[in-house]
Amino acid sequence: MTASDLPVPDSPEQAAQRAERLREEIRRHAWRYYALDAPEISDAAYDGLVRELEAIEDAYPQLVTPDSPTQRVGAPPLEAFAPVEHAERMYSLDNAMDLDELDAWLERVGRETGGTDVAFMCELKIDGSSLALTYEDGALLRAATRGDGTTGEDVTANVRTIKDVPLRLVPRQAAEAEAATGGVTSAIDRLEVRGEVYMPKRSFERLNAEQEDAGLQPYANPRNAAAGAVRQKDPAVTASRDLATFMYQVVDPRRLGLSGQSEALEWLRDAGFRVNPDIELCGSAEEVRAFCRAAVERRGDLPYEIDGVVVKVDSFALQSELGFTSKAPRWAIAFKFPPEEKTTVLRDIRVQVGRTGALTPVAEFDPVLVAGSTIARATLHNEDEVRRKGVRIGDTIIVRKAGDVIPEVVGPVERLRDGTERVWRMPATCPSCGHEVWREEGEVVPRCTNAGCPAQRLERLGHWASRGALDIDGMGTEIISRLVEHGLLHDVADYYSLSFEDLASLDLGRVKKDGSPVLLGETVARKLIASIEASKDRPLKRLVFGLGIRHVGTTVAEALAGAFGTLDALLGASEDDLAAVDQVGPAIAGSVRAFADNPANMDIVERLKAAGVRTADEGTGPRREQTLAGTTWVLTGALDRLTRADATAALKELGAKVSGSVSKKTSYVVVGADPGSKYDDALRLGVRVLSEDELMETLEDGAIPGDAT
Ligand code: NAD
Repeated sequence: MTASDLPVPDSPEQAAQRAERLREEIRRHAWRYYALDAPEISDAAYDGLVRELEAIEDAYPQLVTPDSPTQRVGAPPLEAFAPVEHAERMYSLDNAMDLDELDAWLERVGRETGGTDVAFMCELKIDGSSLALTYEDGALLRAATRGDGTTGEDVTANVRTIKDVPLRLVPRQAAEAEAATGGVTSAIDRLEVRGEVYMPKRSFERLNAEQEDAGLQPYANPRNAAAGAVRQKDPAVTASRDLATFMYQVVDPRRLGLSGQSEALEWLRDAGFRVNPDIELCGSAEEVRAFCRAAVERRGDLPYEIDGVVVKVDSFALQSELGFTSKAPRWAIAFKFPPEEKTTVLRDIRVQVGRTGALTPVAEFDPVLVAGSTIARATLHNEDEVRRKGVRIGDTIIVRKAGDVIPEVVGPVERLRDGTERVWRMPATCPSCGHEVWREEGEVVPRCTNAGCPAQRLERLGHWASRGALDIDGMGTEIISRLVEHGLLHDVADYYSLSFEDLASLDLGRVKKDGSPVLLGETVARKLIASIEASKDRPLKRLVFGLGIRHVGTTVAEALAGAFGTLDALLGASEDDLAAVDQVGPAIAGSVRAFADNPANMDIVERLKAAGVRTADEGTGPRREQTLAGTTWVLTGALDRLTRADATAALKELGAKVSGSVSKKTSYVVVGADPGSKYDDALRLGVRVLSEDELMETLEDGAIPGDAT
């Protein structure tokens, strides 16, 4: 499994250099993680570095060194503990980073076992620290960490304090084992079992709160906290840390007459060990995939951390057939959960000019798949942020999806720099028009103040046509740029003087095979003319938003349209009148006034009106009394008599807030047919539930039936 998101260098020299840098950096992180229990970067970011090194070593096998981190497990033991030589090596696991890699592994196992029906044992991958327990004559003799796989650390005194670790095996089990081995006591007089010691999430939170109270560094995650707790000098400290174990392996199981992993787990449970109940013996690849998918879903609900699923060939006979690589068994794989972070290379920082002239640096990096989708750029917000993050062009960077949606640059992997990286600075002139940029005092964002700046113009035109504004369906960036280039579009009012011929004959700047230019064509032109026509009849709030007045987003546009009813009234209002509107502060009021005081803007407004664009809301009479002000509503299920959008609009007209999810702050939940989980949430939180009839009554009377108010 060596797929890396980063390209392997073309030249062997570059590859050797990069591999050396990666090794140094991986070693440093591995040491911080395994020896100090204090990682600096996330596991996903670390895995990204290892995978890149693996890909380079795959392409240039001569670069593989015996001490490469790709060939080793963990870290050598700390001197504070007596070393323990493991009788049988403790391996790591190979990873499958997604379901495709898992499939590839399942297929390989199928092939290598000659197509027999293979059963797979699926277990949760507990995110703790490996532990080996040795029993002699049924009594716990020694507990050891994995260390580097060959030599671990003797942590017996500490592990004895963990409540679920049996100090003696269940006697019946010991006797049976002896019987199973035909009374050969050597089989049971020494028994080794392995598993994971972990810290439950709750205990972890409590421990970190205590660490912070005591002014100490909090632990990065429960795994490191557990590993740290097992390796305390004073067993009393380990005892106070509330550790737990799940055991999952019997060493040399066939001596006990066990033929597969499922039997071994059962044996462990009977012998008195704690065994994770979330296991499944799967007969097909599809069942394995289903188990993995379900584990991803349930991950957050478990009281302990898991970082994947371990899939093992169940039969010990087949396991022996498959054997081991230098680092991991071939008969098992760790399916890792989709990483939230990845490493990639920052290729450039481009400056984007927004519709109000704001200059925003945007990171452009090699595309990487993060949490289910490919990302290639992320905003860096402003120059201060670029400096704070310390990223340079050419850096290997860590990226993630914030809140699993918005791409974000976490920071650079500084030690991988080779001196060719470039520090980025905000340009002094606009990258689009070359006009000088201006950073107002107290503002972090510089702006291009040239009203004729082509980049701003494109943004403004695109904004007008966008969904939340006038919604000119089909009017995308490419067409807009071409219309601007051909001098057909200068400002938003020009949309309404475009003719069918203008559009149909628009040269898209590409050529066909026969050398003739690609034109927009009649079909698209016809659709666009219809979309432009339809855009004339949007509600006032969309028009106000579409004008692109600084600080006026959708919410403020709605408030302004609601308060003034017509564009004339709004643009004629004084700053004081504007500032009196709910959600409108002096900055917004000033910006609306500045817009209206600019003759060029008023000229556009006049031309829009002349073209027949609606600038007033229908039925704009006195507003309805805001009887529902201060209440929050949630709608769920299908309504019979009106759409969700209409119900929302009608509630808002009465001053209500309409939200998408139920919380303690929700005042009412309207329940239609086949309601979703919001209905259950309402019942659970004791929020008042209203029927569609009651909603209709409320909309008519402006008061909720049965409410005193
Ligand atoms: P691993 O943790 O990915 O997988 C192997 C381990 O899984 C086993 O040793 C075992 O302890 C554990 N495990 C849990 N449940 C199991 C089960 N049911 N059956 C079998 N084994 C089970 O491999 P590793 O070599 O221990 O550690 C590598 C991982 O550590 C990497 O994925 C990396 O993300 C992380 N790491 C992070 C940093 C960092 O700086 N953040 C540094 C080094 C390593």
